[in-house]
Amino acid sequence: MDDCIFCQIIAHKAPAEFVYEDDHVVAFMDIYPATRGHCLIVPRQHVRNLYDVAPDVAAAVMAVAVRLAPALRDVTRADGMNLWQSSESAAGQVVFHFHMHLLPRYAGDGLHVPGNRRRAAPAELNGLATDVRQRLMA
Ligand code: 5GP
Ligand code: ZN
Repeated sequence: MDDCIFCQIIAHKAPAEFVYEDDHVVAFMDIYPATRGHCLIVPRQHVRNLYDVAPDVAAAVMAVAVRLAPALRDVTRADGMNLWQSSESAAGQVVFHFHMHLLPRYAGDGLHVPGNRRRAAPAELNGLATDVRQRLMA
């Protein structure tokens, strides 16, 4: 994928500050960090997002997240950690090569996860859950 910045980074044709590499997954520092220590975990295989990634590839990415998170916590002395993934523009995806964000969080860092939440009606939850269960069985 010549026009994919993450493929270029993975191929070492574009610069990045790597923190981890194995046969299937790399991790590097986000160039526009939302918080100090913001990292991206990326499979070598170019797939668009959560809708396309194979379960074993996603599992390999998750395994790196589990390994990297405590190291990142210790180095940054973060108070917490978000694991974040965006699929499609409506969700905020900008780079269309599947990745997960590891976002160290600091007490009072002011970063707000968007959400104007309201308690859902039981019938609404039941209707949606029923439809999803049926879709999974299809
Ligand atoms: P998305 O919104 O697609 O989930 O996140 C893409 C992330 O990639 C953003 O946090 C953005 O800062 C980061 N990013 C975009 N271009 C580059 C780049 O060239 N190098 C690095 N290291 N990160 C990038
Ligand atoms: Zn790519």
